[in-house]
Amino acid sequence: RFEGQASVFDARRGPCYRCLYPEPPPPDLVPSCAEAGVFGVLPGLIGMLQATEAIKLLLGVGEPLVGRLLLVDAQAMAFRELRIRKNPNCVLCSPVATQHGLIDYAGFCGVPSVDGEGGVPEVTATALRDELNGSDPPLLVDVRDPPEWEISRLPGAALIPRADLPERLGELTRARGIVLYCSSGIRSVSAARQLLELGFTNVRSLRGGLRAWARDADPDTGSY
Ligand SMILES: [Zn+2]
Repeated sequence: RFEGQASVFDARRGPCYRCLYPEPPPPDLVPSCAEAGVFGVLPGLIGMLQATEAIKLLLGVGEPLVGRLLLVDAQAMAFRELRIRKNPNCVLCSPVATQHGLIDYAGFCGVPSVDGEGGVPEVTATALRDELNGSDPPLLVDVRDPPEWEISRLPGAALIPRADLPERLGELTRARGIVLYCSSGIRSVSAARQLLELGFTNVRSLRGGLRAWARDADPDTGSY
């Protein structure tokens, strides 16, 4: 929350971003800044470093951060520098590169697509609101953790944290329709996929999660 990094990736002169991070971490292990929280001024601090490097490159002056990763610790107000090298087997910039174009980054990074990622059906916030007001409302399941549930939740929802889902399947078997939600719609897609793989059929995920609900369906719902 108090740390940032800055570098300049110019594969002609130094490593590329893929040299440093060949693979992204699993999507559900990456909380967004909104979820994890970040020291408010930190993006400004790192942003000014980035702007400085960009202007230097445009003007052709100074020594850019090529091959150097600048680590900023705002709590200690300490700046450290790591040397980073070109990966001789980099999939993108090495002689043995296998990747030559852009890929499906939304899929790669686990961002649910409009049609649902990996075959998981999704429902929009406004459509869900209509269903909940209708005659055959689905069972709403909140797959977040209890501290998140304490902050805000959808009315009528049941809390079953994603980690507890396998042991609490019994609570879902009688529901005719199930809609899972989380804060942004990533954890709920993966939980829905788990249920679909276990044989549940009418399972959907709220696209965009609680955030989309607060934005599109009910502004009185708190989001974070
Ligand atoms: Zn590379």
